[in-house]
Amino acid sequence: MTRRYPKCHFCEGRVAEQRITVDYRWGEDLVAILKNVPAGVCEVCGEQYFKAQVVKAMEREARSRTKPKEMQTVPVRELKVA
Ligand SMILES: [Zn+2]
Repeated sequence: MTRRYPKCHFCEGRVAEQRITVDYRWGEDLVAILKNVPAGVCEVCGEQYFKAQVVKAMEREARSRTKPKEMQTVPVRELKVA
């Protein structure tokens, strides 16, 4: 299935579909890393666009209680820049 995307809202660049990895967050909290997400990506500025159906599927997958493909543990650090 090929999804079509309108021109980029910001720069009017061409938007083509790619499979990307999304850091899915609730507020500041990273709740899941979603791989293989179909998104429209602007070829000029890189802005990403998601179809409503894909947004719903991401939400569903992020909340899913089924066993994830893998688990990642990452360090949380804070910058000490004045
Ligand atoms: Zn753009």
